[in-house]
Amino acid sequence: MYTKVWMGYRFTKNIRLSRLERESVFYVVTNVRLFATITLSIPRGRAMAQHYDWLTELLDLPNVRVIHFQLVGTQRLNVVVESILEAALCPHCQQPSLIVHDQGDAQLIRDLPIWSRRCWLSYRPRRFDCATCNNTFVERVAWRESGLDYTVRYEQAIYEKVRRESVSQVAQDERLSEDIIQSIFERGAKKSSPNAAILV
Ligand SMILES: [Zn+2]
Repeated sequence: MYTKVWMGYRFTKNIRLSRLERESVFYVVTNVRLFATITLSIPRGRAMAQHYDWLTELLDLPNVRVIHFQLVGTQRLNVVVESILEAALCPHCQQPSLIVHDQGDAQLIRDLPIWSRRCWLSYRPRRFDCATCNNTFVERVAWRESGLDYTVRYEQAIYEKVRRESVSQVAQDERLSEDIIQSIFERGAKKSSPNAAILV
């Protein structure tokens, strides 16, 4: 810090800098310019989206893109996702809205494993303003039922597993309690029954 102030003072007083000082100034200026050029030349949102295109494709959830991910230990993966839909349908008047009011806190939603890692989606639901009926509402997504902390396809996978194995075995594999596995299984069973249309 002291050195920088001293160099700045000498610069303003037109006192010659040593060769080493000149080189360090040149290095800092060059790198700042390089960083600014790279940062400003890339549209940030698009760059990030493209950066995780491969993971978005691998995740294969409708109308969702991956914007970040995090490896937690050796057995867990957190994938941060956002909706790519511009509009949401108002549940009060059934009209589409494009006006995002705000975004809720991140929710962790259990999903199918990726590369044998247990996987959670981190997702912040958007709240929309409806210009037609003046209500606000939280967007609904096809891949998860509101209020549940697991995806529709995870529920289906657990249902299939419990049909083949015991609840306790599945609970152990998934690192969840038997009560939770039982409740996921029962929800899945209702949807898979021949009378599902009546029960739902
Ligand atoms: Zn409305």
